[in-house]
Amino acid sequence: MRFRFTIIFIILIVVMSIAAFLSRRSKRAVGRSVAWIVAGIIPPVIGNLLIVAFSDKLTTTIGYYIYFLGMDVVVISLLRFAYIYCDMTWFNMKRRLMFFGLFLIDIVQYILNPFFHNAFETEPITVDGRDYYKLIPYVGQTYHRVICYGVLFAVIIIFIVKTVRAPRIYAEKYSIIVIALIIGTLWETYYIFSGVPIDRSMIGFAVFGILIFYFSIYYRPRRLLDRMLVAIAGEIRQAIYFFDANGKCIWANDLGIELLDLKNNDYSTVTKLLKERFGDIKPDVDGWNSSSMVMAGGNTKYYSLETHMVTYGGEKMAGSFINIKDETETKMELQRERYNATHDSLTDLYNKDYLFERIRETIAENPDTQYLVIYANISDFKIVNDIFGNVFGDFVLKYVSERISNEMPSDSVYGRLVGDTFGMLIKHDDFNPRTMEKNLTHFTVSDGSTDQNILMNLGVYEVTESDLDPSAMFDRARMALSTIKNEYHVHIAYYDDEMRKEALWGQHISTQLADAMQDGQIRPYFQPIVDMNGDPVGAEALVRWNHPTEGQLNPGRFIPVFEKNGMIADIDRFMWRSACEVLTRWKNKGIDLFISINISPKDFYFMDVATEIKQIASEYDINPAKLRIEITESVMMTDNENRFAILEELREAGFLVEMDDFGSGYSSLNLLKDMPVDIIKIDMVFLRKTKDDMRAQIILNNIIRLTEDLGLSSLTEGVENENQYQMLGGMGCKLFQGYYFAKPMPIEEFEKSYLKEKKLIS
Ligand code: C2E
Ligand code: CA
Ligand code: CA
Repeated sequence: MRFRFTIIFIILIVVMSIAAFLSRRSKRAVGRSVAWIVAGIIPPVIGNLLIVAFSDKLTTTIGYYIYFLGMDVVVISLLRFAYIYCDMTWFNMKRRLMFFGLFLIDIVQYILNPFFHNAFETEPITVDGRDYYKLIPYVGQTYHRVICYGVLFAVIIIFIVKTVRAPRIYAEKYSIIVIALIIGTLWETYYIFSGVPIDRSMIGFAVFGILIFYFSIYYRPRRLLDRMLVAIAGEIRQAIYFFDANGKCIWANDLGIELLDLKNNDYSTVTKLLKERFGDIKPDVDGWNSSSMVMAGGNTKYYSLETHMVTYGGEKMAGSFINIKDETETKMELQRERYNATHDSLTDLYNKDYLFERIRETIAENPDTQYLVIYANISDFKIVNDIFGNVFGDFVLKYVSERISNEMPSDSVYGRLVGDTFGMLIKHDDFNPRTMEKNLTHFTVSDGSTDQNILMNLGVYEVTESDLDPSAMFDRARMALSTIKNEYHVHIAYYDDEMRKEALWGQHISTQLADAMQDGQIRPYFQPIVDMNGDPVGAEALVRWNHPTEGQLNPGRFIPVFEKNGMIADIDRFMWRSACEVLTRWKNKGIDLFISINISPKDFYFMDVATEIKQIASEYDINPAKLRIEITESVMMTDNENRFAILEELREAGFLVEMDDFGSGYSSLNLLKDMPVDIIKIDMVFLRKTKDDMRAQIILNNIIRLTEDLGLSSLTEGVENENQYQMLGGMGCKLFQGYYFAKPMPIEEFEKSYLKEKKLIS
């Protein structure tokens, strides 16, 4: 029998050593404490081995000492195991020290035993025909048993409570430990009271150690469903970490392992690594979520984190999981979309809408800061485009954008409004007109093959009404800019009170226009056009506004206002009708004169000019040859093919087309070659007194010759004296208009005195 136990103990020692070794290597949180328990059981077993295998008093006595002291270590390890496994936070340092004190006393009394025999003695009996030293316990031994059993029972109770409280999926795991503990304890108790000489209790402890080893290191409660869930979780394209009820990570899917770069599936570091990477994570708060920006290898990565609780049987929390989604792609895509929606694709500056939004925000956020709004326009950009092509035009826009970016202070806001116009918001204190003038208003753009001087004009509005919408602010800045006219030394203009009053005045008279036309406040004046003999051949209809409070308003005062807001179309329609009315009356009276009407360049934006004129003429049933159409060459500067077609249409219908103000604008001779006109109306600039009258006369003479050579008629306006009349006649001019002959006058005066005097009417 002794031989049999010897073999059993040796086997147990080998098995426990392997188990202790494997537990030590395990990465699980309880690995170390399991290793302690399992390793701790080895010495008592060795002690028992000595007691069973040897027959001399000394060796067996040493065996007993190893046995009892070893048991102390086992019980302490068991307590430690329970502490970690069951998460007994209440078992604090003070309480732990108290327990260690009890065991310290036990150890001391065993050390004193050889001298005082206070714990035990041995007594030889014969077992299997050999000496066997049997234990005779004294009071110390009883103390040893009490504290060992006390702790053992306490641990059993802790595990029982834990088993009852834990969700059922864990209860299984706990209950096996409880059963193992109970079996071990019962076995031990049985031995103590049975009086059997050979102590078999160590077999129970060893089995208990192996069970604990298996269930805490290798066993995971996995059933089919669990396997399926784990497989699904593994497939999800998010990093997932599972935590048990105590908040310890028990599993991570592949992406989770990859994300934290976990080595050997060591889940014990997960919580620490997650905190390092994502800040304070809360695996134990249901529905907790956050988003996190992380720098990884020089790239910014965006993650969203979310915690979910897993409950079991209603209330009980079985565990939780965190899923972490890499949002970098979506975020980038969103940023790209947002960028495209807020930036101009050509220049990369803010687009108009976003610029306005940013201006609104900036002003609202800094109510005490004084700002300026700047409207910048590239002069004659259309010409740059026409001459050098769109590619170079785009190049210029990009170049200008860069210049603006470089020039503007970092806390300013700027963007591209539309076409060749840019908008900026700058702090009043940062605005330096000198450097702006120097760096932003004139520069040379070169793409390697083309060099072009670029002029840029700036209109500045000081934001005095901060609740104004940015579009209205830019209207004001643009209004300031529009006062810069061919003045090559002025590039920056400021919106002032005068402009504000002007704008208000414009709004004021705009509301009155409709009534004014009805009431006869607005009506045509007629200025005669005469031939070489001074005899009238026709008249130009010029609009006048006899305003009740403003007095007589000349067109120069109000036409620019209505050209801006489109109401010019209403005035011109009214004037054309008035002209046709007069022509009808003259036809009936047998007066054979023509009337010239003015067409504003802006009319082309607001109506179908040719159709309307033809329609009015046919309504009044007048001879189209009696209605002459005056247009300025600026009409041809934009969209000239289309405009040519309109004029051509009018001429085909029998109207005569006159080019008004020739010589005052660009006077492109190139345009003259193609423009479908019948009469050139030479501007009065050539008649003005200049330093060098000779030069003006030479030009005038040549324009008249050129006109005649092209088969067109020439008419000179602004003739104020006999001299001019004679000179122009000498140059071959056929038609004349000017104060020398008559000033513009109301129709009654024109008919009753002028035509009477000229004997055209009786
Ligand atoms: P415009 O078409 O060049 O008209 C000729 C202007 O010269 C008229 O000024 C006329 O009064 C003025 N004038 C005529 N003879 C002399 C002269 O000997 N010396 C001087 N210094 N001036 C002379 P007004 O009537 O003030 O018109 C100014 C401009 O307003 C016109 O220039 C025309 O561009 C525009 N306008 C006048 N009526 C209409 C209209 O019904 N519709 C449109 N769209 N524009 C109009
Ligand atoms: Ca005219
Ligand atoms: Ca004119």
